[in-house]
Amino acid sequence: MTTKVKNSFRNVKLAGLSKELGEILEGIFAGDRLFPDGSGKKLPALPQEGVGLAKLPDLWRLVEERSTLLTSPNMMAHMDVAPHPAAALTSALVAALSNNLLFRELSPFASDVEEQLIDYFIRGFGLGAKAGGTFVSGGSMANLSCLFAAVGGFETQHPRSDFHIFCPASVHLSVTKSAAVLGIPVAQVHKVTCDNGGRMLAEDLEKRLKQLPKAAKPVVVAVAGTTIHGSVDPLIDIAQICKSRGAWFHVDAIYGAALVFSGTHNKLLRGAEFADSIAIGPQKWMYVPRLSAGVLFKDKSTFEKRLGTALPYSFTQLPHRGQWGLQSSRPADVLVLWAVLHTIGTKVLGETVDHGIAMASRFHELLSESKMVEATHAPDLNIQTFRLKGSDSAGQRASATHSQFTSQNKAWFSLSKWNDEILFRAVILAPDTTEDHLKFALKILEKAIT
Ligand SMILES: *Cc1c(COP(=O)(O)O)cnc(C)c1O
Repeated sequence: MTTKVKNSFRNVKLAGLSKELGEILEGIFAGDRLFPDGSGKKLPALPQEGVGLAKLPDLWRLVEERSTLLTSPNMMAHMDVAPHPAAALTSALVAALSNNLLFRELSPFASDVEEQLIDYFIRGFGLGAKAGGTFVSGGSMANLSCLFAAVGGFETQHPRSDFHIFCPASVHLSVTKSAAVLGIPVAQVHKVTCDNGGRMLAEDLEKRLKQLPKAAKPVVVAVAGTTIHGSVDPLIDIAQICKSRGAWFHVDAIYGAALVFSGTHNKLLRGAEFADSIAIGPQKWMYVPRLSAGVLFKDKSTFEKRLGTALPYSFTQLPHRGQWGLQSSRPADVLVLWAVLHTIGTKVLGETVDHGIAMASRFHELLSESKMVEATHAPDLNIQTFRLKGSDSAGQRASATHSQFTSQNKAWFSLSKWNDEILFRAVILAPDTTEDHLKFALKILEKAIT
């Protein structure tokens, strides 16, 4: 007698459902709205008896209706953009296969792809033939992994209290979080002074490094693409200072790594080739969904010693990509990036990056013509911060204006705090954002000014 399996996945019919999913996705990618109108709506209770596969599209539509859409060219608020449609579709395939980059036998193709992509980025940054790296889940994990290696990794030789981290005041929170996880005292995380665009001042870094006691071990974090301003630190100067002071040089290029694809702006990354470690984040500006990040190391042997572990529970002769880093299982999301790169090509990705930078510089000009708002920095990349002209104590006018602007649900800039000031911030990531969208969003904002 055979028992009937109620929850069998085999021989399911998916082509019809895929067509419906395709239609929902088409709606999303053509969508103009930003925020959902889900206010006060309750979630349906979890059922004891399932509704069945055929009703899945109703659930998808509910998800779509109540989610924020990132696809509109008027969505200019965060370092978050809709992934390329090829990425969205490939994600379904990657999820269905659920290959695990932990073991080569569980991800034979994805492991090859991971190695190819790591090599591509190593060459893009000019790190040299001895470099190595791995993908990790998310930017915070990437920074933590690099800083873990910087302070000794699995071959800890010096007490953590010997280490001092130097980073720009504009650094991403994940660096301060990493320092705490790694047991580096808060007083030994030094925030270096920045210019008005959040770029680290190399002179201040040098001055502070000189004040360090002899036995101290400095780790310098520079940023290519800071979170508020999208600025790039003076990497060449910082690299030289690190060399002369014997400091570990880490570059947080979670945002700026996309510059390797640009034939025009890749020069902004000059100096990163001297880095001991680099964190990269395809999820930000390479049009793939979260989480996708990676780490690169100038010296593969340091990488292997400090981030390498043995994997006793799978004994084969195959090189395992799970032998490095802090994670165990890792999703095969490299396949999504790979599919995007094959679909559009590296050249078009670079041109998309260039377009965002060109739009930010056009936005900068538009701001200079405005009577009501003004830019607060000259953008390096595709991010522009600005403020209301006139007095705005404690950012009250900015906050009130922003609520009024957002409530119209037509365009979106975000609010950020920098040097105790509340600033508007435009992040121009959508490939379809044109000058007309910038003017449109600015007009709506100007009308909302209180
Ligand atoms: C987004 C970002 C991070 C953190 O990445 P998560 O995936 O959000 O953890 C770190 N550094 C920079 C510069 C970033 O832009």
